[in-house]
Amino acid sequence: MNKYLEQIVLLSKIDQEIDSFEPKIENISKALRDCENKISKINAELESIDEEIKDIQNQKIQNNAHIAEFSAKIKELSKKSGSIKTEKEANALKIEEDIAKEQLDAANDEIIRLDKILDNKENFKKELSQQREKEEAELVNIKANIQMQMQDLEKDRMKIYDKKTKLVEQINQKVLCFYEKIRKWAKNTAVVPVRKQACYGCFMKIYDKTYLSVVKGEEIITCPHCGRILYKEQE
Ligand SMILES: [Zn+2]
Repeated sequence: MNKYLEQIVLLSKIDQEIDSFEPKIENISKALRDCENKISKINAELESIDEEIKDIQNQKIQNNAHIAEFSAKIKELSKKSGSIKTEKEANALKIEEDIAKEQLDAANDEIIRLDKILDNKENFKKELSQQREKEEAELVNIKANIQMQMQDLEKDRMKIYDKKTKLVEQINQKVLCFYEKIRKWAKNTAVVPVRKQACYGCFMKIYDKTYLSVVKGEEIITCPHCGRILYKEQE
């Protein structure tokens, strides 16, 4: 194979490898982002539960005030009963007393209901806090893991950059410019193999004459359909 072509094929493979680092890094940090998202979701939920608990506690305070009010009323009515003179008065007092007792019962029932809701909320809050603890422990794990993976990746990346720098120094400037121009639009498929007499960039069939030149590999040949650099893979 022509030396320039050989260099360009190698360079394109190195460039492909360099480009493969970004998705790898993306993948590694995805686990971190997912975990952080989970934690912030739990935090938001906990915040809203705290609001709800506060609201219910306020309702309880109001209800307890009502209970005190109704109890005082009942006491006051029973005191009055000593000074009653007529049956009409007695009946009126009895009705008033019944109403106050009903209100007191309702207020007591409401406290029971609110306590139940409060209990549920507290339980859910506990569950969420446990979940958060678990996720936070996981986050520490992930962070340690990522650091290791990133270090490995960084080492590999340095190696491959080094390889590229050395190769680029040797490549003819014109050839390099030609390659970079194609790479601008074709990205990682700037240099493609010919398989079954077809360009592996655009997948169109290559005419016999061009194909023969590609097989010979004596010069840099581009695909007549798409303009990518073609080469025949060594067996
Ligand atoms: Zn093509």
